[in-house]
Amino acid sequence: MDNRQTKTDVILIGAGIMSATLGSLLKQLVPEWDITVFERRSAAGEESSNEWNNAGTGHSSLCELNYTVEQPDGSINISKAIQVNEEFQFSKQFWAYLVNSGVISNPKDFIMPVPHMSFVQGESNVAFLKKRFEALSVNPLFEGMEYSDNPDLLKQWVPLMMKDRIVDQPIAATRIESGTDVNFGALTRLLFDHLQKNNVGMHFNHQVDDIKRNSEGLWELKVRDLASGAVRRHAAKFVFIGGGGGSLHLLQKSGIPEGKGIGGFPVSGLFMVCHNPEVVAQHHAKVYGKAAVGAPPMSVPHLDTRVINNKESLFFGPFAGFSPKFLKYGSIFDLITSVKPHNLVTMLAAGAKNFQLTKYLIGQLMLSKEQRLEALREFVPNAKGEDWELVVAGQRVQIIKDTASGRGTLQFGTEVISAADGSIAALLGASPGASTAVSVMLEVISKCFPQHIKAWEPKLREMIPAYGTSLLQEPALLREIQAETSRTLGLTNGNGASGHGDKTSALA
Ligand SMILES: Cc1cc2nc3c(=O)[nH]c(=O)nc-3n(C[C@H](O)[C@H](O)[C@H](O)COP(=O)(O)OP(=O)(O)OC[C@H]3O[C@@H](n4cnc5c(N)ncnc54)[C@H](O)[C@@H]3O)c2cc1C
Repeated sequence: MDNRQTKTDVILIGAGIMSATLGSLLKQLVPEWDITVFERRSAAGEESSNEWNNAGTGHSSLCELNYTVEQPDGSINISKAIQVNEEFQFSKQFWAYLVNSGVISNPKDFIMPVPHMSFVQGESNVAFLKKRFEALSVNPLFEGMEYSDNPDLLKQWVPLMMKDRIVDQPIAATRIESGTDVNFGALTRLLFDHLQKNNVGMHFNHQVDDIKRNSEGLWELKVRDLASGAVRRHAAKFVFIGGGGGSLHLLQKSGIPEGKGIGGFPVSGLFMVCHNPEVVAQHHAKVYGKAAVGAPPMSVPHLDTRVINNKESLFFGPFAGFSPKFLKYGSIFDLITSVKPHNLVTMLAAGAKNFQLTKYLIGQLMLSKEQRLEALREFVPNAKGEDWELVVAGQRVQIIKDTASGRGTLQFGTEVISAADGSIAALLGASPGASTAVSVMLEVISKCFPQHIKAWEPKLREMIPAYGTSLLQEPALLREIQAETSRTLGLTNGNGASGHGDKTSALA
């Protein structure tokens, strides 16, 4: 090992959307800080953030049914939907700022307007969707949402899904034009390109093998150059572990007490992808259905229009599966080496409690091509096998920890774990994911740099106009900001700008 050591203000581990976002925020807030990035792959955005490894949905709860839960009294709880929507507003505002300030020259390189829809069949599902629509559409964050249980209108909204469909049970959908398709891979690369031009040291093919506190109180990383095999030490005052699925191992290596007792469970994803232009042209929406029994919330099936490299394609899935790897390009020993004395009981408890999930994942893993096509035909009744190919997507490592609801609870959200002194933070979990990168990285900033927040507030408000306010409490401000953000990003404004008939007629 080379005993020379470099020192810097900030080290970002991993070149995914999270590190890209944190680096971009910090560069705007304190341009004079030295930032260094280490990434084990040969380019940025190669793991979960890559456009082929995720579904590219700008999650705002416009279509994802799992964010609205029916209560025992029959009412719909929309609090999670509001939270997810507000978080995505933050992302859009920051991206609009980056466009206005010239960091990103063309928003079309990473974001496109694509209507978001929910689609259900069967009496109880239709009743749920209607109640969900009634609860959401009166809320300013969801303005412009339409509902229909009229098959003729659905044929206009989703011709591919209605063609050759036998409608022998109630059927309904909601639609909102302000949905988005986001190319998180392209966005990650755009952000890192800009950072690199602004003196951020980017080190690809460099893997962080270890993290320890040194005698000066700095975090010292052992970094391996995967091309030459050389190992060097790099020290920093602040470290962000943005390793995606690789974060848990690195957090454990740091030894901070906040990282103890936490385990991870990997769920892999597969999409069926269609490039046939004739089929692709018949569908223009992201359409989310209902999850199967036992399915984890992020495995809700959906049929999505995607825009990648200016070319439209359709994605269907994700089909879940099990692989012991924590990263798509990880090791088969990832799961086993993440089990430590401090999380063993938690992991065993999770194994015993999640029988339904295990059963579901094994079932998904065993699916044949014909069975996957059958699932697709629930959405596209006349889907032909030759039009659809299977693509392996990213890995999502779900957090396992002891919570108030018991030992070994599987969590489906994301969580920022940081040291008490704010000198190191890691992001674990993967849902709602990349869409919430800005609000999650603002959480990292507020947890790790509380002493600077007051001074940074004016700049934070300039970058994210709704920072520190609840948009829901200020509908006029929400409309104003949304209109401005949509204009800058080339999106469809949510405030009743829909061109597909009015709500009341659609309801009839
Ligand atoms: C199937 C699927 C569908 C999804 N759909 C959506 C969606 O529709 N919308 C949405 O918002 N989100 C979605 N997500 C989630 C989203 O992709 C992730 O939340 C997001 O990309 C995570 O970004 P990240 O930067 O944390 O991790 P990543 O993009 O995985 O980046 C982590 C990086 O760290 C590197 N790394 C790891 N360990 C080390 C190490 N030791 N040394 C150096 N480098 C290291 C990796 O190589 C990688 O490049 C989906 C995810 C999956 C898997």
